[in-house]
Amino acid sequence: MRRLPCLVSILFAAIVCLAQNPNSSDVGPYKNPSLPVEQRVQDLLARMTLQEKVATLSGADWMQSVPNQRLGIPSIKMADGPLGIRSWAGPSSETSAEVAKKQITTTAFPAGIAMAATWDAELSQSEGQAIGQEVKALGRDMILGPTVNINRTPLWGRNFEGYGEDPYLVTRMAVAYINGVQSEGVIATVKHFAANNQEFERHRINAEVDERALQEIYFPAFKAAVQEAGVWSVMSAYNKLNGVYCAENAALLKDILQKQWVFKGFVVSDWGSTYSTAGTVNAGMDLEMPGGEPMKAWLAKPKTQASGNGGGWLAPEKVLPEISSGKISTATIDDNVGRMLRVMFVSGQFDKPHTASGVIDTPEQRALARRASTESIVLLKNTDDLLPLNPAKIHSVVVLGPSAAVARTGGGGSSLVTPKYSITPLKGIQDRARQRMQVSYALGVSMEGEDPGKDTPEAREQLRNEAVNAAVKADAAVIVVGRSAKLESEGFDIKSLDLPAGQDDLIEAVAKVNKNTVVVINAGGPVIMSGWIAQVPAILDLWYGGQEGGNAIADVLFGDANPSGKLPVSFVKEWKDSPAHGHYPGENLQVEYAEGIYVGYRYFDKHKIEPLFPFGYGLSYTKFDYSDLKVSPNSVSPGKPVEVSLRVHNGGSRSGAEVVEIYVHDGHSSVDRPTQELKGFRRVDLAPGETKDIHFTLDRSAMAFYSTAKKDWVAEPGQFDVLVGSSSRDIKLKGSFNLQP
Ligand code: BGC
Repeated sequence: MRRLPCLVSILFAAIVCLAQNPNSSDVGPYKNPSLPVEQRVQDLLARMTLQEKVATLSGADWMQSVPNQRLGIPSIKMADGPLGIRSWAGPSSETSAEVAKKQITTTAFPAGIAMAATWDAELSQSEGQAIGQEVKALGRDMILGPTVNINRTPLWGRNFEGYGEDPYLVTRMAVAYINGVQSEGVIATVKHFAANNQEFERHRINAEVDERALQEIYFPAFKAAVQEAGVWSVMSAYNKLNGVYCAENAALLKDILQKQWVFKGFVVSDWGSTYSTAGTVNAGMDLEMPGGEPMKAWLAKPKTQASGNGGGWLAPEKVLPEISSGKISTATIDDNVGRMLRVMFVSGQFDKPHTASGVIDTPEQRALARRASTESIVLLKNTDDLLPLNPAKIHSVVVLGPSAAVARTGGGGSSLVTPKYSITPLKGIQDRARQRMQVSYALGVSMEGEDPGKDTPEAREQLRNEAVNAAVKADAAVIVVGRSAKLESEGFDIKSLDLPAGQDDLIEAVAKVNKNTVVVINAGGPVIMSGWIAQVPAILDLWYGGQEGGNAIADVLFGDANPSGKLPVSFVKEWKDSPAHGHYPGENLQVEYAEGIYVGYRYFDKHKIEPLFPFGYGLSYTKFDYSDLKVSPNSVSPGKPVEVSLRVHNGGSRSGAEVVEIYVHDGHSSVDRPTQELKGFRRVDLAPGETKDIHFTLDRSAMAFYSTAKKDWVAEPGQFDVLVGSSSRDIKLKGSFNLQP
C-alpha cells in the first residue's frame, strides 16, 4: 500500500513525458550499433522532420554542429589543428586572448613542414593518433586538419602548416596523419579543397589552375585522403577555383569529390566562406561553419566584412524558402544530412561518445613531440664537421638571436597551439651543455615588431655590439634567427624571404669574429641567405619545432641525435627564381598558376635553375653509400608493378638515419613531363658499418600522367628511368625498365 503513491507518480511522469515527446520511448533502429550504418542513417533520416534536417546544415556556434535533443543526435564538437589542439573559444580575437589560451593547453607538435621534413610517415601516423587521443580527452569529436595545400610560393603565409611542394610526399604524410586520427574514432578534416595556396585576398581571389596541374599537383593528397585513408570530412577552401567559390563549386564537390572519388563523408565550409544558399547546398556543401549567434556577431564586425568573409547562407530561414520554391530538392537535403549522420555513426559518436575525461600532454606524447622535432631538423651546411660541437675543443658557446630565448613553436593563425610548457633553444642548449660547456646569451637583435624600444638604429647597434663582444669570447656561437608567428601566419603572406630586419647583419657581424658560427633557422620555410651563407660554417633548419624544439635542436647540436631531416621544399637563392614569381599574388583578384605542373623542383629542373638547396636535401653526421640497384622486371606488362631494390650502408662512425628517395623519369612521353618525379621514399636507421637492403614497388601510378585529352591517367609504353638518390639533385644510382604496350 505504501508503494502505491510512488507508482502512480512514476506512471504520471511517464505519461507527461510521452505527451511532450512522442518518440522518447521509441528506441529506433538507428540507435542499434549492431545494424549496418546505412540502415541506421536511413532510419534516422526517416524520423527527422524537414525542419530538423535543415537545422543541421549550418553550425550551432563557432565550433559545434546543431544537436537534436528529440532524437538524441549529438553535436559534432570540433577543434582546430592540425599541429595539436587549439582552444575552440571563438574567432581568433577570442581564441588568442590570454585567458582563452590558458584554458586549453595541449601538446604542440612541430609544424606540418617540419613533420614533412622527417619523411617519416609512421611518425605522422603516431602524431595523428596522439592528436586523436587528445581530441577525445578534451571531449571533442573532430580535428580541423591536416592541411595539404601545396607549397606553391615560398611567400604563402601558411606554408609552415602544410607538407611541402611535392604531391607524393604531401600525400604520404597526410594519409598517415588521417589514419592516426581516425584510428581513435576522431573525425579528421582534410583541408582546404582546393588551390588555397596564398593568403593574399584569400576570400576573394580566383585561382586559375589548369586541369593537369590540379590532377597532378593540387588534388593527389585530397584524393588519397578520400580513397586511401577514408577521411570522414573535407573542408572547402575560401578562394574561388576557376571562377567559382570552392564552397559552391559543383565541379569540385559534386563531380570530383563525390562522383569520381566516391567520397562518403561530409564537406564542411571554411569558416565564413559561403556566398549563396541553393548554389552552395546543391554543390555538395553539407555543413556551413560557423553558425548561430556567434556567426552573426562575427559577420557583423566591419573587419570581417572588409576581409570578404561570407556566411549565414545555410541557416534554416534561408534554406527553407529555397526548398519551397523548388530550388533545392528534399533528396538533396537528405543526401547532405545523411553524410553527416553517416560519419557520426561510423566514428562511433552515437555509441561511444567522447567525454572530456582523458589525459592530455602525457609523457609519451611529449616524447613523440621531441622525437618528431629531432627527426625534422635539417643539416644544411657543416664545413669541416664543425657539428656536432666537440666538447674537447669547444669549451664555451654563446647563444644569440631573437629566437634563442623564445620558444617559437609554430606559425600564426588557427593552427597555433598553446602548450603547457615549451623549451626555448637557449634552455635546451643550457640543459645539454651544463656538464660540458659554458653557455652565455645575448639577444643580438630584437624580432621585428616585438619591442619598438629595441628597434631604433642606436638600440640595434648596441645589441649587435653586445652580441659581437660575447661572440669574441666564446669558442662557438649559435645564432637562432627566423620569423615569428606575427610575421608568418594565416591571414596574410610573408612580405619578403629576407630574414626580418637586422638578423642578416647580426649573422655577418658575428661570423666575422667567431669562425665557429652556427646559424639555426626557426621559420616555416626558406629564407634568403645570400649575404652570409659563405661566411658561416654550419647551418641547421629547426623549422617551427613545437614545444620540444629547444631540446631537439640541442640534441642535434651536441650530437645526441644525428640530423636526418630532408627538405620538403626547394630553397631558392632569391625570390625571382621561384616558379610562382611573376604570377603571384595576381591582379584584379585573379591569380593564374601559369607554371602549371612545374611547381618546386619540377620547375628548377625544367628551367635548369640552381636552387640554394634542392628538394630532398639534408646532410648527416655520418655518410651513406648506395649500391646494388636492381629494377625488375626490366620489361613489364601494363598494370603490373616494378620491384626496385638497393643496398644502403652506413660508412661513417655514428648511427644515423638516411632517407632514400626514388624519382621516376618518363623520357618518351607524348606530352611534356617533368625531368623527375618523386615516387617513393624510405627512412632507414643504420648503425655504423651496418648495411640494409631496401625494397620499393612502383605501380602504375608511378608511371602515369594525367591526360587532359582522355580525362584519365595514362601510362605510355616505353622506357622509364629509375633514379635513386639522397636528394633530388644527388642521384646515386640509376636504372630503368620498359613498359610494354
Ligand atoms: C582557417 C581554417 C580553420 C578555420 C577554423 C579558417 O580561417 O582557414 O583552416 O580550420 O578557420 O578556425
